[in-house]
Amino acid sequence: MKKVTFFIIFSWILLTNVLSQDATVSLIPMPNSVQHLSGDFTIKENTTLDIRLSKEEKKLFEQQIANTSLPSMRKAKKIAKNNIIFKLVADSSLGKEGYQLSIIPDRIIAQAQHTTGLFYALQTISQLYEQSARIPAMIIKDVPDFSYRGLHLDVSRHFVNKEFILKQISALARYKINRLHLHLTDGAGWRIEIKKYPKLTTHAAWRPYKKWEDWKANGSRYGANEKGEKFGGYYTQDDIREILSSAAAHNITVIPEIEIPGHSEEVLATYPELACTCANQYPILYDYCIGTEKTFEFLENVLTEIIDLFPSEYIHIGGDEATRFGWMNCERCQNRMKLEGLKNASELQSYCIRRIEKFINSKGRKMIGWEEILEGGLAPNAIVMTWMSEKGAIQAAKTGHYAIMTPSAYCYFDSYQDAPMTQPEAVGGLLPLKKVYSYNPIPKELTPKESQYILGVQSNVWTEYMSTPEYVEYMIYPRILAIAENGWTSSSVKCWKRFHREALRQVTWLQKQGYHPFDLSKEVGDRPAYRASVNHLALHKNVVYNEPYSPFYTAAKEKTLVDGAKGNWMYTDGRWQGFANRALDVTIDLDTVTDIQHISAEFMQFIKAGIYLPGSIEIYLSADGVDYKKIKEISHKVDPHANELFYKKLIWEGKERARYIRYVAKPSPTSKEWIFTDEIEVR
Ligand SMILES: [Zn+2]
Repeated sequence: MKKVTFFIIFSWILLTNVLSQDATVSLIPMPNSVQHLSGDFTIKENTTLDIRLSKEEKKLFEQQIANTSLPSMRKAKKIAKNNIIFKLVADSSLGKEGYQLSIIPDRIIAQAQHTTGLFYALQTISQLYEQSARIPAMIIKDVPDFSYRGLHLDVSRHFVNKEFILKQISALARYKINRLHLHLTDGAGWRIEIKKYPKLTTHAAWRPYKKWEDWKANGSRYGANEKGEKFGGYYTQDDIREILSSAAAHNITVIPEIEIPGHSEEVLATYPELACTCANQYPILYDYCIGTEKTFEFLENVLTEIIDLFPSEYIHIGGDEATRFGWMNCERCQNRMKLEGLKNASELQSYCIRRIEKFINSKGRKMIGWEEILEGGLAPNAIVMTWMSEKGAIQAAKTGHYAIMTPSAYCYFDSYQDAPMTQPEAVGGLLPLKKVYSYNPIPKELTPKESQYILGVQSNVWTEYMSTPEYVEYMIYPRILAIAENGWTSSSVKCWKRFHREALRQVTWLQKQGYHPFDLSKEVGDRPAYRASVNHLALHKNVVYNEPYSPFYTAAKEKTLVDGAKGNWMYTDGRWQGFANRALDVTIDLDTVTDIQHISAEFMQFIKAGIYLPGSIEIYLSADGVDYKKIKEISHKVDPHANELFYKKLIWEGKERARYIRYVAKPSPTSKEWIFTDEIEVR
């Protein structure tokens, strides 16, 4: 049979004209190699299925076929034409997830080394069929670029139920996402049943407020409110088993995260003996006490139940954003430092993480942590999940540690995905689909050898502002499609135009299936001012800063205000320059005395992020850089209740001659936080 199949495919390649690459095949993620042939194969009523797997594998595979868009098909009785064959082959070039699909006019042959590859071949056939039952003839050979393609979901800030998770698993698998990282614990609620510590779910899984914002603003307490209402929830171990069984059938590994040592307010409020001895100095306890053995006993007991439940090779232990408030004043932590010869809080954190890693390794598993686990020395076998930037991953890869890329600028789905005024509340930042798609998980700083330590890419969905399941879906889709393609498809094959066209189609498909994606067809896109550069008299002139800009929002540093580049909707885009608690005060040198009729600058107000219009503007002109005259003073009352995001251009117009312009924008006395501007235009 092998020979017959080979002959059929081979003759088609020889006898047909190979069509050009731009013939329409549109899939997400796009396969890495497509060779077009002439003719097509139509899936119709009498198309039959020939699944060459063991009895048990076949049963599961039939179920997987039933979950796709494909019509129900009869089983092929004998080698017949017009059938779809799924079979395993020994071809090491396909790895575990790769597959080859030969679509020729009288049959489709899907082959892979492993059932996972066949599952992905099936997803490809299903997506092709959704476009047309008549599928153009072609050979697809498809192997993913990265082995880790993930979605992280924070179920602590806002809990979503088991059914929601099961629903996402089925959509994620369709796009060949293979990891679901569940952020199961955090200050906002503990979300998994631990038999040994029932209070984690009778108490710490509940809070008096539904919305995270209200809970945070009202003292971050647990349990019920005055009316006896409580919000939140958790997964029982049976729920988890059901999630894991569905995930396995969809070739998705679920990675559990238990936060250590920070982000643990809910545990410490429930088991205060795990907090530092000095803890009563602080209104809220955040971090485990690393000085007491009780902490390690608790964590090892919790991790034992987690490891018994989850088959994942990787266990995520958080490791991010420990406040370390208590450690330096805690007698027990100080004793631990003396005993272990630890010099500072970073080394104390590293001690904790190394001890936890040793425990996880002793159970045959590997530890993942957020990039802060690098501080104070990385645990020997740890995998770093980089989130602030790519730096953590670069450092890890250069020292022979594996890393997973989730840099916030490209992978944090809590940011707005379109013009913020058209969007529901988000944490800030702007991350449209195009920007997610532009991300290449291999940092430029790495050599090809070091790049092998990059396991893949993941989007992180932090749910602070996502208080309904519909909203969580809205933030996931369609952006996860870009992550799926970034993780699967080589950058040489990627194409924004094709991807965008296909993403529009996928959004319609998702809507029809009852998902709630952002409607990409209604995308506003970039701020009009951002799209084109502006030309004016001060362009590329020298600017002296009389007050410094913030080191956090430098934009193009000294060039920012005269580079002709206007900012997009959000202050985080690298074009807006920020001034924290101080005036914007700059002097622009036009090189020569010049006729000036117009000076303007645009400011942003976004009170949620502490950004205000300036309270007053002063403009001074000088011919010699010594004597200045004030030509304009604009006072401006900042409305602290104007909650919506807006932009305002403050303009002077007149007739003057000068070489030097000193531009001063002072914060309002009542709202001394941030001032952001992007350009000072002179005409
Ligand atoms: Zn302590």
